[in-house]
Amino acid sequence: MSNQQTSTDVILIGAGIMSATLGTFLKELVPDWEITVFEKLANAGEESSNEWNNAGTGHAALCELNYTVEKPDGSIDISKAIKINEQFQVTKQFWSYLVNSSLIHNPHEFIMPLPHMSMVQGEENVEFLRKRFEALSKNPLFQGMEFSDDSGKLKEWIPLIMQDRDSDEPIAATKIDSGTDVNFGALTRMLIDHLESKNVAINYNHSVIDMKRTSDGLWEVKVKNLDSGTVERHTAKFVFIGGGGGSLHLLQKSGIPEGKHIGGFPVSGLFLVCNNPDVVARHHAKVYGKAKVGAPPMSVPHLDTRFIDNKKSLLFGPFAGFTPKFLKMGSNMDLLNSVKPNNVLTMLAAGAKNVPLTKYLIQQLMLSKEQRIEELREFIPNAKSEDWDIVVAGQRVQVIKDTEAGGKGTLQFGTEVVSADDGSVAALLGASPGASTAVSVMLEVMKKCFPQHMKAWETKIKEMIPSYGISLMNNPELLKEVHISTERTLGLGDKDPVFKKEA
Ligand SMILES: Cc1cc2nc3c(=O)[nH]c(=O)nc-3n(C[C@H](O)[C@H](O)[C@H](O)COP(=O)(O)OP(=O)(O)OC[C@H]3O[C@@H](n4cnc5c(N)ncnc54)[C@H](O)[C@@H]3O)c2cc1C
Repeated sequence: MSNQQTSTDVILIGAGIMSATLGTFLKELVPDWEITVFEKLANAGEESSNEWNNAGTGHAALCELNYTVEKPDGSIDISKAIKINEQFQVTKQFWSYLVNSSLIHNPHEFIMPLPHMSMVQGEENVEFLRKRFEALSKNPLFQGMEFSDDSGKLKEWIPLIMQDRDSDEPIAATKIDSGTDVNFGALTRMLIDHLESKNVAINYNHSVIDMKRTSDGLWEVKVKNLDSGTVERHTAKFVFIGGGGGSLHLLQKSGIPEGKHIGGFPVSGLFLVCNNPDVVARHHAKVYGKAKVGAPPMSVPHLDTRFIDNKKSLLFGPFAGFTPKFLKMGSNMDLLNSVKPNNVLTMLAAGAKNVPLTKYLIQQLMLSKEQRIEELREFIPNAKSEDWDIVVAGQRVQVIKDTEAGGKGTLQFGTEVVSADDGSVAALLGASPGASTAVSVMLEVMKKCFPQHMKAWETKIKEMIPSYGISLMNNPELLKEVHISTERTLGLGDKDPVFKKEA
């Protein structure tokens, strides 16, 4: 045991995009609050937020078919797509504020303009895509979306996908140029560096192993210093559990009633990455397909141009799979250790309900490289196995809870903020739409945990996010202003972007 002890206003557990975003918000709103970060790994943004561990899509519902469902009457429900798009508009405004205020620099190091496309095959799917296009393109948020089922046009848009395609099955795509590729790892590192420059204590190789309330209403966090092997105790008025897949265990340790009856279901991921520069050069878009029957929504296949490690790359996936780990660098005991007396029935119900999904994920995990390349050939008919390598992506822990609509043990695919009723602790669970919504989700954390400050903070929040509290869809003039200003600040108007580090 070490006698190391500190007392701060805020403890952020984990140095991923969520903690980094919340820390940045708080430093702007209340610069004199003391903040301490504990991260079990040696660097920031090494788990799900790392550029190789997620797909880097700036989710704005421009191409993800699972955000628009066909209703029984054949019409398309676009409400979820609208919500996700509005959230990404909020995200872009916050990032623009950070760049404009010189808190972070060189936006092309973390965000690049890239067309977002949806592509489907087969008559029924083409019809669905056409209807989806008609519903979305009328909405100001999706202005500029194009549809085509003409093979000449498609060859222009996606030459690599259309080359050597001899099937006469109908094929169609939509394209919108205002999409983005985001390097969430680079952004996380930039934000953590910025926090460090504002005197936030960033403690790497520090794993939080327990937390409890003290008699004077603070939180005491027990932390193992992995360098020295000693255990430290630190207190704070507010703790944010931003441990990604590690959050559920910590929420359980906190003992707050709001964290009971909740379980986690881990889904692993794999990408195929292209090692042939000629193939990489022939594609320039994120192209999302349709999920296979029985597949969870986050395993929708897509072929993505990515900007990582100072170069253009091409990735396909993610292939979902099942491992019991909650973090990529976690333990095989994670799933078992998350089963507690208060959630065992919820977990068992989820297990019984999700046998087909678990079977699907195990089958996916067992796929050989050749079988994965076969799936890739639905996108690139002449794909060669030797041009592609496998990389392991991050883990996603889906929330399991009892809901009115789904009953006991329902698997949730969204993100959930769980907080104590006195607002002294909040945890972020779930992983979708993920990092793209970090700004909106952290605003939600602040609303839940600091309601007494929100009125005083409003002017500053509006300076950072001009559309705060306003629906952009219903305010086309403001949407236009936001679009023009974020495009300029973040360098998103560049038609043919060259990825380069600015001097
Ligand atoms: C395959 C895949 C594809 C994805 N694609 C996209 C996408 O295209 N677009 C998108 O927006 N989102 C995507 N996501 C989701 C996105 O990556 C996550 O939502 C986001 O990165 C989560 O950030 P976080 O800060 O909560 O977690 P993380 O980035 O995982 O950070 C949590 C941190 O907490 C640390 N930690 C954990 N436990 C402890 C502890 N006890 N003590 C100290 N530190 C601890 C971890 O080491 C880690 O650094 C994807 C995710 C996956 C896995």
